[in-house]
Amino acid sequence: MRPFAYERASDPAAAVHVATSIAAEAHVRAPVQYLAGGTTLLDLMKIDVMQPERVVDIRTLAARLGAIEADASGLRLGALASMAETAAHPAVRQDYPVIAQSLAQAASAQLRNMASLGGNVLQRTRCHYFRDVSNHACNKRLPGSGCAAISGVNRLLAVLGTSEHCIASYPGDLAQALIALDASVETLGPSGPRTLRFAELHRAPDDTPHIETNLAPGELITGFRVSSGPWTRRSLYVKVRDRESYAFALASAAVALDLQEGVVREVRIGLGGLATRPWRAEAAEAVLRGQRLDETSAQKAAEAAFADAIIHGDNAFKPELGRRTLVRALLQAAALEV
Ligand code: FAD
Ligand code: SF4
Repeated sequence: MRPFAYERASDPAAAVHVATSIAAEAHVRAPVQYLAGGTTLLDLMKIDVMQPERVVDIRTLAARLGAIEADASGLRLGALASMAETAAHPAVRQDYPVIAQSLAQAASAQLRNMASLGGNVLQRTRCHYFRDVSNHACNKRLPGSGCAAISGVNRLLAVLGTSEHCIASYPGDLAQALIALDASVETLGPSGPRTLRFAELHRAPDDTPHIETNLAPGELITGFRVSSGPWTRRSLYVKVRDRESYAFALASAAVALDLQEGVVREVRIGLGGLATRPWRAEAAEAVLRGQRLDETSAQKAAEAAFADAIIHGDNAFKPELGRRTLVRALLQAAALEV
């Protein structure tokens, strides 16, 4: 691991000040990184993929940024709440089961104890070529160098939202629940606090796959907010993976439904393991609104969700797997007793 300066943050504003004081080139080389659970950051520093000059430890802020609060209007999750405590929180389990399930099916128990929600949504792709510094063709790690995955080993990579410059899949689970519930992200940056829709946090790769989010350099995520709605209780997460535990999604679906006598009043769908960023399947939602939810309408929605899928060799199985995952999630959500 390369040498780096280590600082402990005394409060959120001080953390942002330290992080922005040398962050001019952050889009490309990310010279400053926050340390939360460290389960992504330290991994990537050890294999030399991330090379921060300064690491700002924010675990000292857990008392201020780690709270989970729920009331009739909705849920607020502090960015430093751990994956494990959020998954086990009674209000999250009862009223926002898609969030609890997405976290409970992610990583391992040890990782969930250590890792934070803010770090989870900002985890990096598992594309082998991105994580192997002996490979010199990765536009995400080395802008302008090409993409070895497009004609290489790409079984795990994306079929939605790809570009000719990058087809890396976004690997996280929580993000699919948050995008389905139209959550918002609260941040603190050099110009103060701001709120953005979760759907606006991550960027499509286009021709700049190395720029993954719309956060400014040094901008700190402080929490997430989810409004309660008639669809939040009837929600669930279905994850399909090579092993039943401790594996990233090949395909996943986060579904939140408002049904009246079997007819869809509102539906929200997030898809994971299939796209370059957290993915809201709006075309599929449009097919379902106002329709009776049954196998036929679920299948039509799934067709719409993957109408624009682009495959690259090894990942040709993904659109079909994605369709089946979505149909299963929709029918299971419809059958829930809430
Ligand atoms: P860190 O490693 O501390 O930080 C990650 C990144 O986020 C860094 O760039 C850091 O600077 C930035 N950051 C952290 N907090 C903030 C903040 N508040 N504001 C701004 N920037 C911030 N995840 C899944 O979803 N599903 C899985 O199945 C899964 N399997 C895994 C298996 C293994 C073997 C491993 C190692 C990881 C797996 N993960 C999985 C990923 C894991 O969940 C993430 O590593 C973890 O959630 C990251 O959180 P952290 O707090 O450790 O982040
Ligand atoms: Fe790099 Fe993206 Fe290509 Fe993977 S898919 S090699 S991350 S540019």
